[in-house]
This record gives sequence, structure tokens and C-alpha cells, in this order.
Amino acid sequence: MHLRRKLVAGNWKMNGSLGQLAEVSAIAEAARATGGVDVAVCPPFTLLAPALTRAGGITIGAQDCHAAASGPHTGCVSVPMLKEAGARLVICGHSERRADQHETDADVRAKAEAALGGGLVTIICVGESEAERAAGGHLARVEAQLAGSLPDDWEEGELVVAYEPIWAIGTGKVATAVDVAEMHAAIRAALVARYGDRGARVRILYGGSVKAENAAELFAVADVDGALVGGASLTAAQFVPIIEAAAAS
Ligand code: PEP
Repeated sequence: MHLRRKLVAGNWKMNGSLGQLAEVSAIAEAARATGGVDVAVCPPFTLLAPALTRAGGITIGAQDCHAAASGPHTGCVSVPMLKEAGARLVICGHSERRADQHETDADVRAKAEAALGGGLVTIICVGESEAERAAGGHLARVEAQLAGSLPDDWEEGELVVAYEPIWAIGTGKVATAVDVAEMHAAIRAALVARYGDRGARVRILYGGSVKAENAAELFAVADVDGALVGGASLTAAQFVPIIEAAAAS
């Protein structure tokens, strides 16, 4: 993956089946034809290996990992296991896991350290709740998540931040271009303050109800280096126009 070349990553969440992997083939074919954009699909763990056989040039990623390489952690999957299954990317700290599995910033950081240490492209998710935004605390909330969730060490190109306002995920509500610009500028400033020049080269994705209809406007915002897409990544018909919008931006 190139530095700050746009990345469009699909998060299938707990959706998908072997029968739906034809969508991965179609997405990969379109991504090849479009060119110029890094594309990833993150199916459930059970579909990683079979998805890889359909992936062509696109990246197959996972939606979570454990911080340890092995051990007594029933139901969990480690970075070496993901790599053996063919994953080259992982999402850490998605707001659904922060809420449902009570993942803290420290948990997310530990997972991200394991993933980056294992050479996986690592998307670390941050984002405020509707109440935090309404109270004017959205920037402080995200800055605190960045401070607590991001590791100190990573290889160029492998650390990615996704700004996903919780109220925009799966709701059809999208942050305005002005709100996205404000937050992405604040995230960039935090990255540069912490990592210097290297922070200027970290990709920052927007996520939250990204669709074909709003993708071009979002990709035109400064410091939007791609998208993390949930619902609209499940079919090539909905995902490919987002990839094409990224390529055209
Ligand atoms: C997500 O789950 O990361 C996401 C952004 O979902 P959706 O696109 O469905 O809002």
C-alpha cells in the first residue's frame, strides 16, 4: 500500500457466507479495473481464508485480533493466526467492540501493538457519541481516544486511523463536510504533534454511512484519505462506486 494513497476498506461485521464471496470476486475485479486506490474487505474470521482465494489484488483483513500470540483466551484469534489465514490488515477498536466487548483505549492499544508488530496494516477506530458532540466535547473525546489507543512504534504505511462518529454508523446519518474537515484536521494535528513528520503520512479514513451518493463529497475534504464502510461494502453494486469515487478524487 502506498503512503496516503486512498484506502477504501469494507467491514462486513457479522455478515456474509461462502455464497456471498462472489461479491469479493466482483469487488476485486472492479478494483483492478479502477486502479489507483487501496481496497480491503474485512469479512468474519471464518471467511478469511476462502475470501483470499477470491481477492485478486485487494487486501483481505480481519475485524479484531487478540493482543497475545497464543494462550488461554477462548474464542479469540491472534495476529499470527490471522496472518496464517491470509489477512494483511486488521481493524482495532471499532465502536461496536468498544461498546459490546467493553474494549478500553488500553485494550485497543495492546491489540494495535500486536497487529503492527506483526506487520499488519492496522486501522484504529475513534469517534464520539451523539451526546458528546451535542455537549461540544467531540474533539476532546477523540483526542483522548487517540492518546490512549495509538501505539508509539509502527512502520510507515501500516498505521491508519478511522474517524467514525458513533451516531453515523449504520444510521444513515452522515457527518457534514464541515464537521468531517474539523475532526480530520484535529486528528492530523494530534498525529503530527505526537509523531512529527511521520504523523503527516498516516492515513485518516472517515466512516459512518458512507454510500455512493455521499462518497465524492467526503473524499474531497482535506485529510480524508479514504473510507471505512460497513453496510455498503456487502455488495459490489454498492461498494464499487465508492471505490470509483475515491479513485476520481
Ligand atoms: C462501520 O461499521 O465501520 C461503518 C462505518 O458502518 P456503516 O458504513 O454501515 O455506517
